[in-house]
Amino acid sequence: MLEITKESIEKATAKARIAKPLVKVIEFRRYSVTNRETGATYEVRFTKIAGKKFGECNCKATKICYHISSSLPIHLVWASQMHTATR
Ligand SMILES: [Zn+2]
Repeated sequence: MLEITKESIEKATAKARIAKPLVKVIEFRRYSVTNRETGATYEVRFTKIAGKKFGECNCKATKICYHISSSLPIHLVWASQMHTATR
């Protein structure tokens, strides 16, 4: 698992903007991200531990990858809605 911070996500977000992968929701906190050019699909998961956000992806990257950064905005919107709904 990799911690998601502003710094760690920044580069990956720039790459996601260029790659524009296809993001599908599997379930809350689980996403499938497909590279439109190669068709390669990876699974991304998000976890929150002690107020810190973590992401993991089953691709080869050892840092926050663009699969994580491209599904993060969707996850954040959903997570905030879940939070509002359970209040
Ligand atoms: Zn990845």
